[in-house]
Amino acid sequence: MLRALTCWGVRASWQVKAQEQTASYNDEQTAMSSGRARHGGVEAGMIPVAEARERILAQVVPLREVEETPVAVALGRVLATDVLAPFDVPPNDNSAVDGYALNGDDLSPTAPARLRVIADLPAGSVFEGVLRRGEAIRIMTGAPMPQGADTVIPQELVSRDGEFVVIPARIPRGINVRSQGEDITKGMLLVEAGTLLRPQEMGLLSSQGLARIPVTRRPRVALLSTGDEVAEPGGERRPGQIYDSNRISLTGLCGQLGCEVIDLGIARDVKEELRARLLQASEVGDVVLTSGGVSVGVYDLVKEVLTEIGGIDFWQVNMTPGRPLAPGKIGKAYFYGLPGNPVASMVTFLLFVRPALWKLMGRKELEVPRFRATAKCDIGKKAGRREFKRGILRFERGAWEVETTGPQGSGILRSMVLGNCLIILEEGQPPVKAGEEVWVEPFVPF
Ligand code: AMP
Ligand code: MG
Repeated sequence: MLRALTCWGVRASWQVKAQEQTASYNDEQTAMSSGRARHGGVEAGMIPVAEARERILAQVVPLREVEETPVAVALGRVLATDVLAPFDVPPNDNSAVDGYALNGDDLSPTAPARLRVIADLPAGSVFEGVLRRGEAIRIMTGAPMPQGADTVIPQELVSRDGEFVVIPARIPRGINVRSQGEDITKGMLLVEAGTLLRPQEMGLLSSQGLARIPVTRRPRVALLSTGDEVAEPGGERRPGQIYDSNRISLTGLCGQLGCEVIDLGIARDVKEELRARLLQASEVGDVVLTSGGVSVGVYDLVKEVLTEIGGIDFWQVNMTPGRPLAPGKIGKAYFYGLPGNPVASMVTFLLFVRPALWKLMGRKELEVPRFRATAKCDIGKKAGRREFKRGILRFERGAWEVETTGPQGSGILRSMVLGNCLIILEEGQPPVKAGEEVWVEPFVPF
C-alpha cells in the first residue's frame, strides 16, 4: 500500500512556493475523484482510460503567449487568432478555361455565331475597353472577364477564320466563368483560431497575401529519464544497465508536435537528486515529463518526491501497456510521470500527453482520426481493460486490414517500429477473431 506521502516537516522556500501553487491542483483533483480511496493525496485503484484523459485535460490551461511567425515556417503551429479574408477569391469574375469570351446575346440555338476577335488576353492582364455585340476576346484561364462578356467558349469547340472565330450553335450562356468571391468572400472566417496549421492552411493564408501570422508559443517540455539502470547512449553501459530509449522517443514525439524539448538527462534513483532535477525541470519547462519510477517498487521515487514538491495523482489506468501514470503539477509546470517501459511510455504519451500539449498550444481539435479495419489474425484480449496492440495496417483487396506486430510486451519497442498503428480494444471487448473488425489509430504526426 502507498504510505501517506505528504510530509510538510521542515520546508525549504521552494517547497512553500511549490506547495502554494499546487494546492489548488490537489483540491480540484480531490473533488473530481471523490468516492475513490486516496492515500495522502495520492489515489489508489483503477481509472478508465477515458476518465484519465478527461481529468488530465481538465487541468490544462492553454498558454496565452502569442508570437508572430512567417507563414512559410508555420507548419504544425497553432493559429492564435481568427484570420478573416481580406478580399474576395477570385477577386473578380474570370475565365475557367482557355477560349473566347463573348456576350451570350450573340449565341444562337439554331446557327453558328461568327464574331470578330478584337484582343488577346493572357492571364494576369486586364482588358481596359468594353466588349460589344459581334465581338470576342481570346482569353486564358484565370484572366479577368472583359466588361461586356459573360460566357467563355473553350477553344476546342471553335474554329478560327482569320480575325473571326466561329462558335457552334446551342451553346448555353454563362458557361466557364468563375464568379468573384466564389471560393471566399471578403470578411469570412478564413482560418479559425486554434487550428493546427497544415500545408493547405499555409497556402490559403498566403493566397490572401498574408506573410506573417500570430501563433501560440511553442510549449517547453523538460524531459527527464529516471533509473540507476538507465545509461546514456553513446556512453558506457555497465553490466545490468540498459541504454535510455524513452528520452529519445519522447523527444521525437514532442518534436512532432512542435514543442521545444529541454533535455535534462537521466536522474539516478536517489531522492535528493531526483528532487533537485524535478525542481530544475519545473523552472524551465511548461511541462515536466519523466519516464520510469512510477510503479510500486522501492526505487520508484518519482511519486514520493512529487508529493513533497508538488501535487500528484498516482493512477493505475485500466489499460495495457502503460498502467502506472502520475499526472500532477510542480509549481506552475504540468507534470506527467510516464511508465518506464518503452512502449508504455510512448503509448501513454500518445493518449494523455499529446492532447494535453495540444490543448496547451491552444489547439481546438484534440482527437486523432480512427477507423475500422479487418483483423487478419486472432488478437488476444484480457477482459475488462483497454488494450493497445501495435498493428500493421495495410490497404489490401480494396479494404483496410490489420495484423499485430507479434509479441506485445510493453518493453518490446520493436513492436512500435514494426507497427504503423495502434489497435484499440475497448474494455468490454472480448478477444478478436480473424475476420472481425477492430478500431485502429494510425501513427501519424498530427
Ligand atoms: P520502472 O517503472 O522505473 O521500474 O521501469 C520499468 C521498466 O522500464 C524497467 O525495465 C526499466 O529498465 C525500463 N526503463 C525505465 N526507464 C527507461 C528508459 N529511459 N529507457 C528504456 N527503458 C527504461
Ligand atoms: Mg526505475
